[in-house]
Parts: sequence; structure tokens; C-alpha cells
Amino acid sequence: MGYIKRTLPKQKRMALVAHDNMKADLLAWATQKSEQLAQHQLYATGTTGTLLSKHINQPVNCLYSGPMGGDQQLGALITEGKIDVMIFFWDPLDAVPHDPDVKALLRLAAVWNIPCATNKSSANFLMESASMSQACEIEIPDYQSYMKKRTQ
Ligand code: PGA
Repeated sequence: MGYIKRTLPKQKRMALVAHDNMKADLLAWATQKSEQLAQHQLYATGTTGTLLSKHINQPVNCLYSGPMGGDQQLGALITEGKIDVMIFFWDPLDAVPHDPDVKALLRLAAVWNIPCATNKSSANFLMESASMSQACEIEIPDYQSYMKKRTQ
């Protein structure tokens, strides 16, 4: 697979998701980071986003609730290059009915190589990165070449 460069803008489009048992942690984390989060555009699955917008008093683009398709909506936005960073407080100690969607979302974050934190420490590392406050480059699959090869 060939790769091309993609520039992530200074103002990131950030996806935030938390499973039910992790929502309190995400809300506390987001409150702590609210000044930094205010520099970016936020997207979230339905319940996470609605709670978040109340807690940090910042608009959040709310998709459908995760189990109702919100994870898949986020995956589609990642594929389209419309999400730059994802913070996903997933629950490693509980099964969720939409596990296939969760896997698909994490898989697409990996396919499109976006910075993605799946626990609080990684989220902190990510927020402390200089790349969060300036434009930066990532490598993504060269989709045009991939399609060209498949359709020759
Ligand atoms: P929710 O979805 O924010 O609507 O609870 C999160 C998830 O994917 O479980």
C-alpha cells in the first residue's frame, strides 16, 4: 500500500466517545481540558456529546447514539477525512451490544492513521503534543492508486 500526506489543520475536528461506565471519566477529563478543547471543533456520539456540551459549555456536533449507529457515522467521517483526532474512552471491562461497530470504528481510525487515544493517559499525551496546537502532517493510504490498481 502506498501512502500520501494529509495535513491536519491547526483547529482539529475532534471525535469524543465514551462508553457508559466511562462517561463520568470523560466528562471529568474534558472539564479539566476545557480550555484546550475550546480551540477545536468537537464531534461526539449522541449521549456522550449531549452530556459533554452541558459540562463544558461548548457546542458539540452530536451524531446518533453509539448503539444506534453513531460509531458508524464517526467511522464514515474518519474515512472521508472529516475527523482529525479521536479520543475514545472505551470500557475494557464490559461488553456492549454494538461491539462490532466499536471494532469497526477503531479499525477505521487505524486504517486512516488518525491520532487516536483509547484511555486517559493516551488522551493526556495527545493533548500535550505540540501537534495539537499547530497544523501537522500524517500519512494516509493512497486511495487513488489503490483504486487504480484494482480497476485496471
Ligand atoms: P453514546 O455512544 O455516546 O451515545 O453513549 C457511545 C458508544 O459508542 O457506546
